[in-house]
Amino acid sequence: MRAGYYVGNFEYEVKQIPERNPVDDEVKIKVAWCGLCGTDIHKFQGKNGASKVIPPIILGHECSGIVEAVGPDCKYFKVGDRVACDPSWGCGKCIWCQQGLPNFCLERHGVAKGFSEYVYPPEKNVYHISKSLDLETAAFTEPLSCAIHGMDIINIQSGSTVCIYGIGAIGSLMIQLVKLAGASKIIVVEKESEKRKLALDLGASLAIDDQQVLDICKKENIDYVIECIGLNVTMEQAIHIAGKRAKVLLFGLGDPDSTIRFNQFEAYTKELSIYTSYLNPLTSQRAINLLESGLINTKKIISARLSLEEMGNELKTLKYSKKGKVMVCLSGDH
Ligand SMILES: [Zn+2]
Ligand SMILES: [Zn+2]
Repeated sequence: MRAGYYVGNFEYEVKQIPERNPVDDEVKIKVAWCGLCGTDIHKFQGKNGASKVIPPIILGHECSGIVEAVGPDCKYFKVGDRVACDPSWGCGKCIWCQQGLPNFCLERHGVAKGFSEYVYPPEKNVYHISKSLDLETAAFTEPLSCAIHGMDIINIQSGSTVCIYGIGAIGSLMIQLVKLAGASKIIVVEKESEKRKLALDLGASLAIDDQQVLDICKKENIDYVIECIGLNVTMEQAIHIAGKRAKVLLFGLGDPDSTIRFNQFEAYTKELSIYTSYLNPLTSQRAINLLESGLINTKKIISARLSLEEMGNELKTLKYSKKGKVMVCLSGDH
C-alpha cells in the first residue's frame, strides 16, 4: 500500500509499505479521505504537533473510510461498515484515562495515520457513521471533535458576543459551533478578504481585520475570544481585545519555542480567564452527531482535493492550505 511520509528535512515522500491483516481488536480501514491538519504542516516544518516528531512518520490523522477486515477480538465492527477514526489512543488505565481525560494519557499515541491507503486502529478508536453522512464530511470528525472540546472548556452563554480569530478550517468550524451555542454576535478577525466573505457566509455577524477590531472592542464588551491561528501577534491581540470577565481560548497551536506577552494589570482589571484546549477527549461521537445532523457545513471550507502524491508540493507551497481545508483523496469513496 502507499503511504505519505514526512522523512525529515522538509521532505515528503510516498512510499510503498506492506499491507497486513488486522490483529487483536484492530479494524482494518480502507481510507477514503483524510484532512490535512495544521499540525501536519507543523510536523513537515520540523516543529512538533500535539506530540514530539521523530521522522520518518506517516502524516495525517483525520480520516474516514470503509472497514476492509477486522481482527479476531473485534466485537462491534464488520466488513463494509462506514467509519470515522479518533486518532488519539489512550490506555484506559492510567490516572488521566481514569478521569475521562485520555488526551493526557501517559501512553497516548496516534493510531490512525491517514495519509495511507489502510489504517489499523483498535476498535475503541473507531466510530460508526450513518449511510447519510458522506465519507469526505466524516473525515472532519477529528478536527470538529477538537473544536467541541474547546467549546466545552469555555462554555459559551447564550446571548454573548464572541470574537473568532482566523478562518482556517478550525475557525470555520468554530463559527458554526458558536452560532449553535446561541451567541448573539459573532465578530471574525481575518486578514484575507476572501475568507472574510466565507466567515459571513458561515454565520458571522461581522468580519473585519485586526485594526478594525481595536475600535470595536472600545465600544462593546467582547465576552469570549477564540484564537484559531497560533501566531504571537494574534494571541496577544486576542487577550487585549477581550472584554470584562471575558474568557479567551487560545486554540491555535503556537510555536513551541516562543513565548507571548500580555499586560497583567490590564488582564487583572478585566478579570480575564485564559484557556487552552488540548486534543479531543471523548468528543468524537458528538462531532459525528453534529456532522450527521447537517448543522455543520464542511463543503464550503474545503479548498482542494489532492492525491497522496500531490501533497508533497502542497506541503512546500501551502497553495491551497492558505485558502481553506485540503482533503487528501485516498480511495475517494463516498
Ligand atoms: Zn487535526
Ligand atoms: Zn491512559
